[in-house]
Amino acid sequence: MRDFSEFFLMNTEDVKRYAVEVLHRFKPDEETDCVEIGDGNINYVFKIWSKADGHSVIVKQADRLLRSSGRPLDIYRNKIEASILRLEGELAPGYVPEVYYYDETMSATSMEDVSAYGNLRKELAADRIYPHISENISSFMADTLLPTTDLVLDAEEKKKRVKFYTNPELCKITEDLVLTEPYYNYKNRNIITPGNESFVREHLYEDEALHAEVGKLRLNFMNNAQALMHGDLHSGSIFANADGLKVLDPEFAFYGPMGYDIGNVIGNLFFSWANKAFTRPGDPAAQEAIDALARLIAETYDLTREKLEQKYDELVSLPLYRAAAFKKFYLDSVMADSLGYAGTEIIRRTVGDSKVMEVSSVSDPAQRIPMERALVKLGIALIKQRETLRSGRDAVELFRLILA
Ligand code: ADP
Ligand code: MG
Repeated sequence: MRDFSEFFLMNTEDVKRYAVEVLHRFKPDEETDCVEIGDGNINYVFKIWSKADGHSVIVKQADRLLRSSGRPLDIYRNKIEASILRLEGELAPGYVPEVYYYDETMSATSMEDVSAYGNLRKELAADRIYPHISENISSFMADTLLPTTDLVLDAEEKKKRVKFYTNPELCKITEDLVLTEPYYNYKNRNIITPGNESFVREHLYEDEALHAEVGKLRLNFMNNAQALMHGDLHSGSIFANADGLKVLDPEFAFYGPMGYDIGNVIGNLFFSWANKAFTRPGDPAAQEAIDALARLIAETYDLTREKLEQKYDELVSLPLYRAAAFKKFYLDSVMADSLGYAGTEIIRRTVGDSKVMEVSSVSDPAQRIPMERALVKLGIALIKQRETLRSGRDAVELFRLILA
């Protein structure tokens, strides 16, 4: 039997043994069950539990080769993920699974099982729009983002962290899939719904003013080492139930503009709204859910700004940065980035090859074509108007106008 002193890709039987011999989570004679529950296309996620009392642990193992395509992807991402999970656990207690053990040899992170929470994307699809989400996700973002910036951290410590969290291969995925290809299909990977080809050409491939704005957002993503961010904070990385939420899967983490995280959250909420608006017109339950989503989006934007301001007042001490005009400049630019990246996220998930369920599940072209056009228009408007929109309501009204 292989021990765990050298990397190999584990199967469920290996993981059961690993949970006893390495993690000491179960007694050697304890009967356990193990299933692989990963639904992503990158890594392997195992859940192991005791048949006697049900106590459980999650083991997430990264491979050198991508699970879906077999393409190589830097394994260092796993070290980044374990490390930022620990840091987020300190900065925002209770919002991420507790890390029990990080095993560099096996590229495996063992952590708390948060199966009591459901994938937020699926919760929203089922019309479960928990009213606490805006409060909690805005707290998570304000608590984890601002304290990692140069406004708060010692400059030398911050630079060490920038180095540790440099994540070039995963950033490259975002730079390509999110911030290039939807506007310039140079790898031919976009997937355009038949009937929308000329719409996409005209609105995304040939709009030079849009290209200029996306160029700014792209370079900002690559150069603005502002905050340690999650990097992939879409609604499938957020797990929620009636009581609260947990944030998972920060393997794309790096030092970048914090608006990228905020924008990912906000952008993804619009998909649920769009899906309900186009697939369930006239359904009162859908309308109620849409109203709740609109509130959730507006509140998430407003509360995030508010909480960043509070954190700022609490944590920033350098007199130059405490000048009111500087603080306004800083937070205005963070919120403008947020709307811009909400826009790029909406567009890439609509025309790129990594679509969200809310889009790909719509099979009737009579719904899908206009839904995609509305989303692309929203994305473009968010990008182009990101400096002038100033509140959550502004963003929500933008979509209402597009849908009207
Ligand atoms: P990937 O990096 O491959 O996308 P994720 O971290 O997103 O992997 O995990 C894939 C799935 O595994 C999640 O969507 C979730 O269903 C499950 N999962 C991951 N971590 C946990 C956890 N700590 N507790 C419960 N379920 C988890
Ligand atoms: Mg994932």
